[in-house]
Amino acid sequence: MSNMEPLFTRIALIGIGLLGSSLARAINKYGLSEHTSIYTRSPATLEKARDLKLGDSYHRDPAEAVKDADFVVICTPMGAYTSVAQAMSPGLKAGVIVSDVGSTKQSVFGDVSPHLPDGVHLVPAHPVAGTAESGPESGYAKLFEGHWCILTPSDDTDTVAITKVKTLWKRCGMMIETMDAAHHDHVLAITSHLPQLISYTIVGTVADLQDDLKSEVTKFAAGGLRDFTRIAASDPIMWRDVCLKNKDAVLDVLGRFTEDLTALQRAIRRGQSDVLEDSFNRTREIRRRVIEAKQDFIDVKPNDEN
Ligand code: NAP
Repeated sequence: MSNMEPLFTRIALIGIGLLGSSLARAINKYGLSEHTSIYTRSPATLEKARDLKLGDSYHRDPAEAVKDADFVVICTPMGAYTSVAQAMSPGLKAGVIVSDVGSTKQSVFGDVSPHLPDGVHLVPAHPVAGTAESGPESGYAKLFEGHWCILTPSDDTDTVAITKVKTLWKRCGMMIETMDAAHHDHVLAITSHLPQLISYTIVGTVADLQDDLKSEVTKFAAGGLRDFTRIAASDPIMWRDVCLKNKDAVLDVLGRFTEDLTALQRAIRRGQSDVLEDSFNRTREIRRRVIEAKQDFIDVKPNDEN
């Protein structure tokens, strides 16, 4: 198959925000489907998607959007998965592949699987790529380039369906990893959910300062706070859902983090310079490995994409 040959006849995108619209743009750019149908909840967002020419047909009813689709991708916040799975279910044809882009993966099996008719292949996926922006205008096709996409199919999932999902994300420029959903949720709790919650907390602490001190803090933000403010500007709905859907793993890593922070507090109070130095030296090694793994870049929308 040539690289521009469509992989699917009809892809349905359920939700057209940052992730859905970036995928829609990548589908168009790389010729991944003959037809893209789009569902979103609000008329205003649907109009924006139409103005941006993200798809070929636009729908207010999920069942209508997925009709005749051979690939369906849920791109809504995870708190909406159950209701969209229920609503689209009557329109799904036998043999269709249903996937998603959600940030937690075990919850997909509980929220989506029970509502799928027999003969539908569920292949949950997490393209680990994003920005702090939301909505269809914020997306761009190159969002996925050079990032990992993690697939978490169950053991009995159809292998042809898994291969097609892998091929789609590879053609969007992603590297692919397959793992168990519980393992995904644990790894992402450490690499993504914990840093996000720490950022919300640090910036929240700043927000509670007295006004005069707050203006000084903003002025001198380049001293370290700046990067936390970028992360803490991410969508509150998405992160609310991540915490609730990955509760056990998030609580586990938060527990470890607060223990380590308490140990650091004690070392400072006791003036244990060797403990502090050892602890700060250990973390430099992690930074070196992140750079080696080429994971040291910040995504920004290119100027030439609408
Ligand atoms: P977004 O920009 O806020 O877009 C959300 C889309 O879902 C919109 O089309 C919105 O529709 C729709 N939606 C919101 N609430 C809904 C509801 N209750 N019922 C039905 N539709 C609803 O979100 P996003 O950043 O693309 O995130 C989408 C998914 O991608 C999430 O599951 C998230 O975990 C995952 N993800 C996000 C990132 C990231 O950096 N943002 C990275 C990786 C994975 P209306 O506008 O019409 O209301």
